[in-house]
Amino acid sequence: MADSETPSSVTSAELFKAAAEYLRPADLEQVQQAYQVAERAHAGQLRKSGEPYIIHPISVALILTEWHLDHQALSAALLHDTVEDTVVTSADIHTQFGQSISDLVEGVSKLDRLEFQTEQQAQAENFRKMLLAMARDVRVILIKLADRLHNMRTLKSMGSQKQRRIARETLDIYVPIANRLGLHKLYQELDDLGFRYLFPHRHAVLSKALRAARGNRREIVSKIQTALEQRLQSFDIEAQIKGREKHLSSIYQKMLEKSLSFSQVQDIYGFRVIVSDIPRCYLALGALHTLYKPIPGKFKDYIAIPKTNGYQSLHTTLFGPFGTPVEIQIRTQDMHKIAESGVASHWLYKSSASPLSEVQKKTHQWLQSLLEYQSESGDAIEFLEHIKVDLFPDAVYVFTPKGTIKSLPRGSTAVDFAYDVHTDIGHHCVAAKINDQLMSLRTLLSNGDRVEVITEEGASPNPAWLNYVVTAKARAKIRHYLRTLRQDDAKVLGERLLNQALRALNIEPNEVGTAQWDALIKQDRCHSRDEILAEIGLGKRLNFVVARTLLSKSGDESSPALAEGRTTITIRGSEGMAIQLAPCCRPIPGDPIIGLVKKGQGLLIHTQDCPTIRRSRSDPEKWIDVAWENLQAQLYEVAIKVLALNRRGVLATIATAIAEAQSNIDSVAIAKADGAYSEINFTVQVRDRQHLAVLMQNLREIPEVVRLTRLQN
Ligand code: MN
Repeated sequence: MADSETPSSVTSAELFKAAAEYLRPADLEQVQQAYQVAERAHAGQLRKSGEPYIIHPISVALILTEWHLDHQALSAALLHDTVEDTVVTSADIHTQFGQSISDLVEGVSKLDRLEFQTEQQAQAENFRKMLLAMARDVRVILIKLADRLHNMRTLKSMGSQKQRRIARETLDIYVPIANRLGLHKLYQELDDLGFRYLFPHRHAVLSKALRAARGNRREIVSKIQTALEQRLQSFDIEAQIKGREKHLSSIYQKMLEKSLSFSQVQDIYGFRVIVSDIPRCYLALGALHTLYKPIPGKFKDYIAIPKTNGYQSLHTTLFGPFGTPVEIQIRTQDMHKIAESGVASHWLYKSSASPLSEVQKKTHQWLQSLLEYQSESGDAIEFLEHIKVDLFPDAVYVFTPKGTIKSLPRGSTAVDFAYDVHTDIGHHCVAAKINDQLMSLRTLLSNGDRVEVITEEGASPNPAWLNYVVTAKARAKIRHYLRTLRQDDAKVLGERLLNQALRALNIEPNEVGTAQWDALIKQDRCHSRDEILAEIGLGKRLNFVVARTLLSKSGDESSPALAEGRTTITIRGSEGMAIQLAPCCRPIPGDPIIGLVKKGQGLLIHTQDCPTIRRSRSDPEKWIDVAWENLQAQLYEVAIKVLALNRRGVLATIATAIAEAQSNIDSVAIAKADGAYSEINFTVQVRDRQHLAVLMQNLREIPEVVRLTRLQN
């Protein structure tokens, strides 16, 4: 890696030269195109150092060439800041460079948007997990690490406060990730740079002391090296021996941990012995133990039991001459490669041998165990192209308003979050702000979301929450609350819920007459109004349903419940209400849905991600939790947009594919047609989400089809 003292201005020519050494010409061309786009986008922008901004993406890509990363990663590295900082959009990148590169750029941008705020140790661990969970492609992390390395190398031009903040973040977040992924060289450089900017004074003193010590001990070191070489030779073991110096921050760590002064840290020097195979590792170990006595308790066999990041070696410390402890690491060449470049060693060494060399097999196995990923294909190349990091598949990491990170099970909702913060917050929550947007309590949380719970003093748990909370804590607390409700408390809660529902329909509770109540009591064979209210409070009836039924008993023709004919859809939580599928998002069975009560229209069913409903989220009282249920065979309309290459007969091909999926076309409209592409809108009929998926798959297999979107709104 380049000298970190002087950030040199790299040129695109250097990058292309480095990439040309291992990329195919066609792939190199794409990297050059990515460069053109990045160069134009960043034109005129300067870095803090005064250099043109483009120097940064070039440097990041150049770091990646040291690992021989593929052309997609290099292109993405060149483009990594365009979406955030220039007019280039991710759609532009998608159109020009395709899905993989745009996914990589999007992945890096997403990580950039996360802000790490607190200085607590436990928080750092969660933040690292969140980063890894969000970057679903190993290459995203490698780009991000290279980005950080270049920023650290050029940190000099920042103010000292910013230097300290970035250095601290690097040490807390990126250094451990680099270590975990086995990227040893990068890890050391980042670690040293972090140390240097966080503790400039200590760094200066220590490096001076180290330089002096190096001079003093040079003679001893070369004596020891010769002795080691001769001993191995006399045992007929061919080996490469290299002197090895500990890096500054690890010496500093040792001084801190063991409260030593610099002069007391003796094992500054170590040696690395590289031999041809595993048996020779143990032979070399035995041979060296005959030269100097091993220090008891210092021997570690990382060959038999590799470190979790895949590292393998034998470690031993010997009593050297003049009382100097001598640290020895013994490993094979393959182990050495992994020790230096870790997860990146696959790319680095893939061209050097047959496709499934020993290194690759090991990298492969290691990644599998590390990433808990089961590859279906035995092909290592394909494996790595498709590798997705899912280090923490069962968890989702979100921020509290104060920047604390919470880990919740996948599938958790805002209600789970509220109960996780505090039982009282759970009991009084009414809505949530997710990334500053008002959202329903049942919204699923995603990695990196910033979640703020909105509470109201008089609010109490809604029995319907039990339908979707996933954490044991939330479930237990809600159940407990409902169980402890006495009959009259349940009645009070039920009445409040009913009044809310009535007001949402613009009816004042006292406008509901005794006749209406009596009709309802008779219809449902209940004993009293209080019984119905208590049942609402206990979650046995839904407030909106009771409100609607009451209104329908008024005999008023204009009553909303009667205004619409019923559909044949069955939706849990909607009994007795007129149901309409919202024309904006056209939900189909299988879509996550939410009900919105609208005066005069009954219950409108939207998909949970419908943009329309997002706008009316400010009024959470009008929402009802609903779910698909007992579906009869029925067809639903769905709108899809197809972007296809203009070729003769393409429309017919698409229509055939739709028919083959056993779906009918309701309407077709050519939305846009310019030179090469046509945008065609179809309305088709499907049974449910699964049926739609089959249809979409059929369409995707048509070579002319470039993009496919389900239209919602
Ligand atoms: Mn950057």
